[in-house]
Amino acid sequence: MDFSISHDQQAILDSVTKLLQNNLTPLDQRDFDQKGSAPYHIMADLADLGLFGMPFPEQYGGTNIEWDTIAMVQHAMGKTAYMAASLLNRSIGFGGMPILMFGSSDQKENILPKIINGEALFALALSEPGAGSDANAIISRATPMASGGWQLNGNKIWVSDAKAASFIVIACKTEDSEGSDGISLFLTPPDTKGISMTPMNKVGTHWMPSFSLSLDNVILPETAILGEPNNGFKQLMTVLHYARAGMAASVSGLAQRAVDIAIDHSIERHQFGKPIAANQVIRHRLVDMQMRVNQSRLTAFYLAWKIANGLECKTEASEAKIVATEALNFVTDAGMQILAGAGYDNDSEMQRIWRDARLYTFGEGSNEIQRNIIAKEIIC
Ligand SMILES: Cc1cc2nc3c(=O)[nH]c(=O)nc-3n(C[C@H](O)[C@H](O)[C@H](O)COP(=O)(O)OP(=O)(O)OC[C@H]3O[C@@H](n4cnc5c(N)ncnc54)[C@H](O)[C@@H]3O)c2cc1C
Repeated sequence: MDFSISHDQQAILDSVTKLLQNNLTPLDQRDFDQKGSAPYHIMADLADLGLFGMPFPEQYGGTNIEWDTIAMVQHAMGKTAYMAASLLNRSIGFGGMPILMFGSSDQKENILPKIINGEALFALALSEPGAGSDANAIISRATPMASGGWQLNGNKIWVSDAKAASFIVIACKTEDSEGSDGISLFLTPPDTKGISMTPMNKVGTHWMPSFSLSLDNVILPETAILGEPNNGFKQLMTVLHYARAGMAASVSGLAQRAVDIAIDHSIERHQFGKPIAANQVIRHRLVDMQMRVNQSRLTAFYLAWKIANGLECKTEASEAKIVATEALNFVTDAGMQILAGAGYDNDSEMQRIWRDARLYTFGEGSNEIQRNIIAKEIIC
């Protein structure tokens, strides 16, 4: 086992941390959250560092970096500015990897370079009012047209960054099959005629605006389909471990940020004539928090190592997602207790992370569903 970080890896980690410390400070992050807008400007800076190109072959302008390094970068980004990590995750996980693995040569040649240059953000429109955990229950439909192309109708909810995305990956039924067959994915520009969006009002992640979408006779060319028709759900499942690796690594970084804030506060805050960190109950709580973050980072890095080595990682992907997101909720809940009134102030970073954390145990495949996946593998 080798836990060392190479000189080259350290150089990337230092560059990305410095970039985010300078260009997306904690105060900037607070402002983006409070105004309900994402720091899209940071995408060009991340692209300049080559980050959007990390998993992609050189022929498209990528740098072909292994997933263990990508996970370290995602962890560093999560710790410094999770919002930036999230933009990177979704461009690579929802757009880049599915296109690389299933896209036509035209889609690869035209869209991958845009992702790599930081010009193409992706949104995923899978969830519907009647289809959350049970994604196969979607009823939005894409019908082939006699003149060629597709006509989409239906309703989607919780589509994050739908307005700012270059493409929304819209999942629709294209065949009345049982189970996961019969779903296809469509690369859809958000300004396509027939799409109307309504912002959703939510508890947290205000820096990632989410929308409900109404699809009313949306006409798309034949070339908009991603991969084979009726295979969309399986395609999404095939690339999911990349998204989970990015999410778990960056969420463990975000959890580290929450622990660091709690440690700093407990040293600075004096009550009864001494720092609150002098109380054993606070010290032990901080230790428990740090141990949970360490576990989540190691679990995320183990998943990334498996991906880098081409090993089967279905259960590890689910485990990494569970461990990271539950650790984040644990440390932010404890962090709110340690910061107390200072944390409850709407300007505090801890409360923002605490509110955001609540999404991650059910978003991107709930932790109950992840446990179902693991149970099926280890039990039957
Ligand atoms: C802020 C935010 C952003 C989002 N962004 C996107 C996005 O960009 N694109 C997108 O497509 N979706 C997005 N979603 C939707 C998200 O993926 C869903 O919320 C998630 O899949 C859970 O679905 P649900 O909310 O309908 O819960 P439900 O499916 O109704 O589940 C409710 C509860 O029941 C549990 N449950 C359900 N079935 C089982 C079972 N078989 N076994 C055990 N427990 C079960 C769940 O784990 C959960 O605890 C977003 C959601 C939010 C809140």
